[in-house]
Amino acid sequence: MKPAPFTLHAPESIGEVLGLLAGHGDEAKVLAGGQSLVPMLALRLTRFGHLVDVNRVGELSGVTRAGGWLRVGATTRHSVLAQDTDVVAAVPLLALATAKVGHFQIRNRGTIGGALAHADPAAEQPAVALALDAVMEVTSEQGRREVPAAEFFEGTWATALGPEEVLSAVRFPVWEGRRGFAVEELVRRHGDFALVGVVCGVTLGDRGVERAALGLFGVGATPLRARRAEDALVAGEALEDVARLALDGLQPSDDLHASGAYRREVTGVLVRRAIGRAMEEARSA
Ligand SMILES: Cc1cc2nc3c(=O)[nH]c(=O)nc-3n(C[C@H](O)[C@H](O)[C@H](O)COP(=O)(O)OP(=O)(O)OC[C@H]3O[C@@H](n4cnc5c(N)ncnc54)[C@H](O)[C@@H]3O)c2cc1C
Repeated sequence: MKPAPFTLHAPESIGEVLGLLAGHGDEAKVLAGGQSLVPMLALRLTRFGHLVDVNRVGELSGVTRAGGWLRVGATTRHSVLAQDTDVVAAVPLLALATAKVGHFQIRNRGTIGGALAHADPAAEQPAVALALDAVMEVTSEQGRREVPAAEFFEGTWATALGPEEVLSAVRFPVWEGRRGFAVEELVRRHGDFALVGVVCGVTLGDRGVERAALGLFGVGATPLRARRAEDALVAGEALEDVARLALDGLQPSDDLHASGAYRREVTGVLVRRAIGRAMEEARSA
């Protein structure tokens, strides 16, 4: 199918982008890598009179590290995040997770801002943002506001972004010390969205786990944070008990690809696997 007719705008500054979004309101939509929006338009699952292509806006792209944070511009491509040595060194979990996004053709076009704003519950990067307490930088003609990841994802394909707002960047805290990270996911075919996935980070001190982050995806309307399991890991509880806590209250729904019960079962396996792998990496750090 072909998309409904639209006007394509190609602004070169953030000011122009914000002006277009403010001017056209609900009728306008940001176009980044197009890997999610274009198929939805082509299938006529959605339609907009105006597309605002942000790919020419230099200030929305790039990676900088300062003051304990890695700041990633919204239009930074997945292919950069999966390989950039600064990203790999500063926030390894982001690089690991991004390498699992789709096929390389998709990673060459798709952007982190697009993946976060699209908020697919089975996507990797939203789970990383949630687990690591990332902060979204959101800009409109009214100014800039910061939204913690925990408040950003509101439902399937729904976020705290208003129609006149653009996600300009996302900041990830840089973990120091003896740290380890892992991403475990179950996919039916290479490049598919995950049926279930887990992202995990730990840091080790003299008395064991000092810090833990555990994010789940593909098992709810948004990515989920397993906070009780994180606390149990820091408290030194057994892996089996930690995994059981991660499943607490988890009720994935059935769909064409898998039953909710199967997803729940697999989540427990992947949680144990991800923690094991992250701990192993931290021990050898
Ligand atoms: C075959 C296939 C397999 C895929 N597999 C995976 C996978 O395994 N894991 C995964 O995570 N993703 C997967 N994707 C999706 C891919 O990661 C997309 O790149 C991503 O979801 C959207 O990024 P984009 O830059 O292409 O955004 P677009 O498609 O351009 O936009 C997506 C949405 O985000 C909004 N948006 C984009 N940028 C901004 C911004 N800066 N501010 C405000 N709103 C914005 C758009 O308006 C739109 O609503 C897959 C896609 C395909 C086609």
